[in-house]
Amino acid sequence: MEPIVEDKGNTPVKIRVRFAPSPTGFLHIGGARTALFNWMYARAQGGIFILRIEDTDAERSKVEYLDEILRSMKWLGLNWDEFYKQSERFDIYRKYAGQLLAEGKAYKDGEAVILKMLPDQVKIFDLIRGEIQFDTETIKDQVLMKSDGTPTYSFACVVDDALMEVSHVIRGEDHISNTPKQIMIYQALGFKIPKFAHLPLIMDEEGGRMSKRAGAVAVSDYQVQGFLPEGIVNYLMLLGWSPGNNQEKVNLDAAVKKFSIKKVNKAGAAFSMDKLKWLNTQYIKEMPVGQLTDLLLPFLKEKGYGDNTDRKWLEEVVKLYQPRMSTLLDFMDWADYLFEANIKATDEDSAKYLTSDKKEGFRLLAEGLAAAPNFDHKATEEVFRGVVAKLGIPAGDLVHPVRIALTGKTIGPGLFETMSVLGKDKTVRRLQEAFG
Ligand code: GLU
Repeated sequence: MEPIVEDKGNTPVKIRVRFAPSPTGFLHIGGARTALFNWMYARAQGGIFILRIEDTDAERSKVEYLDEILRSMKWLGLNWDEFYKQSERFDIYRKYAGQLLAEGKAYKDGEAVILKMLPDQVKIFDLIRGEIQFDTETIKDQVLMKSDGTPTYSFACVVDDALMEVSHVIRGEDHISNTPKQIMIYQALGFKIPKFAHLPLIMDEEGGRMSKRAGAVAVSDYQVQGFLPEGIVNYLMLLGWSPGNNQEKVNLDAAVKKFSIKKVNKAGAAFSMDKLKWLNTQYIKEMPVGQLTDLLLPFLKEKGYGDNTDRKWLEEVVKLYQPRMSTLLDFMDWADYLFEANIKATDEDSAKYLTSDKKEGFRLLAEGLAAAPNFDHKATEEVFRGVVAKLGIPAGDLVHPVRIALTGKTIGPGLFETMSVLGKDKTVRRLQEAFG
């Protein structure tokens, strides 16, 4: 481990950080991690978290993306204190470009304004990497304002970071090459240079750059897949940081108390779907069943289930699957047989389990269950045990075939609980119809 380089400089009085997405795409996992680290730093330091939309590129910026970014941020619980849109600040950038022209630090080329670069050495203090020295000899004169009157990314970014009094620029490592260029702009404008923290890249499971291939990348995709914001946020914070003591499950409040930007790793962080699922499982497990049921309602609705389902019954079903679910979609995959009028086992399973020697067992079971005075799991078990005892066969001989006939699946929670939540009518009917 590298020693932590302490910042002995003049620490700003007020911590102000920003997340500055361009609405040219969805909020992806990397962007969300940047947002989260900024947010945690602001909250840990009692500072201000700014959300700044970098929408200077009118052609590529889309309102759908902006809406989605805001929705995802809210869903993750990353609330902001101040909000700006660069497209509403063009006058400000023009004013500063004019100032640089007047001072002879920039020149015009047609309608564009261009900053003169002076070969120099630029040094920054990066909170994660320590001191970084850049040679700016190779940096060419930089366009500040394009001929269509819009500012370039670096110019708008510097003007805003300065005017918004951003104390720490925390962003992905892919922006490191922009940093020296931006420092030259700070210097030309006579603005105070903030501190920087460049977060490590997120790698996929094979060590390449995180891509679509490596699984869903947009935060909203994870939502659709049934991940909980708590699971995602906990997972994101581990991409480059650790709460210590080999602890992995940490909620946001606890993390804020421990978070230090100086403890962020320099090395790339590897994305692991298994770990994300494991964390999500933990948050599902500890959730009150009523809350989990509420979260499942939109998924049920989308499938056309659940409009007239009995709430008490639904919670009973949810409780049955809760310990095994790693995403909300697991529930949808596993519990569909409860909502469908008819189910169908695969031909392979039917051929394997629904053999004619099971017919008598099914007949007796259907008969016994139809006559059962109540249908809780104790009652269904009693009938089942009576049937296998009567036939003189081990219970295991009938468990799998019955499960297949009732649920269409080879695995699931206890068979007697399954029968109980499926209810007498459907259970008896599926047993009767199992052999066509
Ligand atoms: N709009 C830039 C981006 O989306 C922001 C970069 C920065 O944080 O300075 O990557």
